[in-house]
Amino acid sequence: MLEDLKPPEKVPTCGFVRLRQGLDGDDQHRLDEAMVSAEWSSLALAKALSERGLRISYAVLYRHRKKTCSCYMNGETFARESATS
Ligand SMILES: [Zn+2]
Repeated sequence: MLEDLKPPEKVPTCGFVRLRQGLDGDDQHRLDEAMVSAEWSSLALAKALSERGLRISYAVLYRHRKKTCSCYMNGETFARESATS
């Protein structure tokens, strides 16, 4: 009965990285700059992205900035993503 019982698949990256992966190179760069900019609060950035059709919660941005998201709990996942883009 439980032959196919498996743990849930690990999500390798957080919502921020998944959103970022859907953007082209220029937009990824703009988004990276906004993420490290003190002029953008996570809330303002989430709102600006949502207004452009990229729905994301400010909490996702906040956790990614604070490195408490799944990217960092999963070790090197985000580092690898960054290096290849
Ligand atoms: Zn993340």
